[in-house]
Amino acid sequence: MNVPLLDLKAQYATLKNEMLAAVSAVMDSQYFINGPAVKELEGLVAKYSDCKSAVGVSSGTDALLCALMTLGIGPGDEVISTPFTFFATAGCIARTGAKPVFVDIDPATFNINPALIEKAVTPKTKAIMPVHLFGQLADMDPIMAVANKHKLAVIEDAAQAIGATQKGKKAGSIGTAGCFSFFPSKNLGGLGDGGMIVTQDAELGEKLAVFRNHGSKPKYYHKWVGGNFRLDTIQAAGLIVKLKYLEQWSAKRRANAARYTELLAGESRVVTPKVLAGNVSIFNQYCIRVPKRNELQAFLKEQGIGTEVYYPVSMHEQECFKSLGHRKGDFPAAEKAEAEVLALPIYPELTDEQIVYVAGKVKEFVGKN
Ligand SMILES: *Cc1c(COP(=O)(O)O)cnc(C)c1O
Repeated sequence: MNVPLLDLKAQYATLKNEMLAAVSAVMDSQYFINGPAVKELEGLVAKYSDCKSAVGVSSGTDALLCALMTLGIGPGDEVISTPFTFFATAGCIARTGAKPVFVDIDPATFNINPALIEKAVTPKTKAIMPVHLFGQLADMDPIMAVANKHKLAVIEDAAQAIGATQKGKKAGSIGTAGCFSFFPSKNLGGLGDGGMIVTQDAELGEKLAVFRNHGSKPKYYHKWVGGNFRLDTIQAAGLIVKLKYLEQWSAKRRANAARYTELLAGESRVVTPKVLAGNVSIFNQYCIRVPKRNELQAFLKEQGIGTEVYYPVSMHEQECFKSLGHRKGDFPAAEKAEAEVLALPIYPELTDEQIVYVAGKVKEFVGKN
């Protein structure tokens, strides 16, 4: 049986007419930059995320970069974040000229370990950037407590977590700002690159919108140096169609996750994902831990099953961050995770037959090895 890691065509098949109509309307209008769909999507995402403002941007990466720039973070500053994430998190901190300061993860959730954050705070620290990895929120209460005590901004990297909640609060609505990605493989995926920044601070929302457009306000007058971080109208139009289905897709991912966890229960050498009490995950990924990860991945590939390693090299081990002076062993929980994690197919359109097949093959391998 063939089970790809992700099958975007299966989802597109259910939306084709609606998507084509939305794209076609933008084509007819020829209003490609800042068209009405951008404002409409911003309103919908602000509402969906329980936030006051939302600012559409060109990618999840640009959401992070624009948020950092708007908050005035730059050379001489430090931003605390996790070493176990997609590169963009640390990359954007470095691109502002600030120093990424890593704090190890909680092995149970793969998210930043809040108990270790305060030790990393220095007089140069300006912000904390927790990542809501694989679709569940980092433990925000203790993070906000440290941030409030030391007057630090909190930028939630919610690229993988739109719609996820913690104690009823939506991802992106807890910190100073929250950043979403509409990369096609995210739960709410666009027709290419796109992203959004949300905030409870309406004034910050206005400033973010100015930074998104070269810091220009009024037109051709620049109080700040921003960038071209705009979201294309065509992306917004496609995303408006897809947003209506996001809740049902995320619910289906949760159901798929529960099914895997049920099928893999009792396999002592397979650690299934743990969702923190109070969290509702959107399962952007379903990552198990296994001792012989690479061998399992190769075995599953032979069986027609697509998997991926998120992430094989932690940020402190990246060549581009050599100057930070880290070495192997600095963040043991992240290093253990990078050696053991494996993402299984979890997309909403999976059939039960496929899930049973994947879980069966994982068990078959583990039983023999
Ligand atoms: C996808 C992702 C990003 C970047 O989003 P893009 O839209 O691809 O630029 C940033 N952080 C995390 C954790 C991500 O998963």
